[in-house]
Amino acid sequence: MGKTKYIVITGGVLSGLGKGIAGASVGYLLSSRLKVVPIKCDGYLNVDPGTMNPIEHGEVFVLDDGGEVDMDFGHYERFLGVTCKSSWNLTMGKVFSEIRERERRGDYLGKTVQYIPHVTDLIKNNFFQIAKEEKADILLIEVGGTVGDIENELYLEAVRQLYDDVGEKNILYIHLTYIPILKGANEQKTKPTQQSVNLLRERGISPDIIIGRCKELLDSHVKEKISRFCSVSKEAVITGLDVFNVYEIPLIFEKEGISEIIHKKLGIYSPPKLSKLRRLVRQLANPSKEITVAICGKYTKLEDSYISIIEALKHCGANFSCNINLQFVETSNDDVTNSLNGVDGIIVPGGFGERGVEGKIKAISYARTHNIPYLGLCYGMQLAVIEYARNICKLSDANTTEVDKRTPHPVIDLLPEQLSVTDLGGTMRLGGYDVHIKKGSFAHSLFRSDVIRRRFRHRYEVNQVYISQLEEKGLVFSGYTEDKKIMQILELPDHPFFMGCQFHPELTSKLTEPDPMFLSFVEACISRMK
Ligand code: GLN
Repeated sequence: MGKTKYIVITGGVLSGLGKGIAGASVGYLLSSRLKVVPIKCDGYLNVDPGTMNPIEHGEVFVLDDGGEVDMDFGHYERFLGVTCKSSWNLTMGKVFSEIRERERRGDYLGKTVQYIPHVTDLIKNNFFQIAKEEKADILLIEVGGTVGDIENELYLEAVRQLYDDVGEKNILYIHLTYIPILKGANEQKTKPTQQSVNLLRERGISPDIIIGRCKELLDSHVKEKISRFCSVSKEAVITGLDVFNVYEIPLIFEKEGISEIIHKKLGIYSPPKLSKLRRLVRQLANPSKEITVAICGKYTKLEDSYISIIEALKHCGANFSCNINLQFVETSNDDVTNSLNGVDGIIVPGGFGERGVEGKIKAISYARTHNIPYLGLCYGMQLAVIEYARNICKLSDANTTEVDKRTPHPVIDLLPEQLSVTDLGGTMRLGGYDVHIKKGSFAHSLFRSDVIRRRFRHRYEVNQVYISQLEEKGLVFSGYTEDKKIMQILELPDHPFFMGCQFHPELTSKLTEPDPMFLSFVEACISRMK
């Protein structure tokens, strides 16, 4: 196509309306013939979310290149099928450290360094550089937060300036707002949208499309009203319907006519391919069976902290036409095994630190001894090794040195390269690495390949000193690094399904291509339920 077109997504009224999913859905609709590259601009001063608490910020998504980025990249990768790069997540932390570096280097030649033009130029140059490097047809820029937030003003100013830089025909602004329906009045209310669009206009940006998040389809007269007050055509007011399943959103946007408006404004044509998506969404909405899976962790209060796991399970649910009930079990409480009564499968997800660890080990023990399918992700694999060491190899008080530095049996210990690390940010073993699969193992029958690539985020590993002891007692390590130094998959042969992996298969699972390990876990849960 040659010249890159820009689509900018901003949000108003409330946070948490799902700009990321809206953006990913728009991208999905355009991606049949065009290369869509997503960019997310976050206003906070952390360099990346790697050190932020998942309760506050949601899951930290890990990219193949090792970047720790906003969880919206999970939606982007799941919808767009692109492998994103860490430079596509701008944060004010990154922007200001670059400004400081340049200033110290003397790059500004004696000038006063200012928000405009220096910071805004730097932000725009990032856009232009990524567009060029990626040969992007569409750069999909999501501005974080809500219009009016102080911390996002510089991004808004940068995307306002883009209009003149790239020309009217090459840029389109989408504003996502909220349409409440008041109890009693039972009426879709447009005032918050009007006010939010006014805030955007004060900043020099006029939206081309308004998406109104609402629990009902927007009434025709409501669209008309928004159109009149906000100066967009009525067709460009799109319902962002509340849905149970996010994969429905592209289908709803398409029905509401969003593609046509984008095609017309940007002079592009890329008809969406929707038949496979439609089929999977239908299977997810009309399941023929049902299972309950327990997720045992400590951030279970906020589903956003486990979003990729939830999505990966949904991918399997759609595939098997199975409804998967999730039961979040808080492992810092004592009655863990009680809460596991009647579940069809157990997952212990990734995690850090001491709190809730003994509860997770109890859950693993319960899964192992009651023949309940078990999937251990990262910490969930490490804790499965500890459980096995304690209860089968009789290494009492075996532990990870992350929890107990003086354990007599450090079956999980720091990766050697971590010994010299002092900074917390960006210093784990991060990103995509190869996993070599043992021939003849269950893992090999799942992946049907000698080598796979998956994403990692850890500091600790299975201590090599204990591997032969664990294997003699029946635990099988069926995936490892090429030099066999880091164990990456474990399995228990005499169990309906008991697997752990040091990587995070949930990060690369797709609706149309669920991760084989998740798929096989869900299949085992379904067989158990039967
Ligand atoms: N805390 C463990 C480690 O650092 C596991 C990390 C994780 O689950 N992501 O190795």
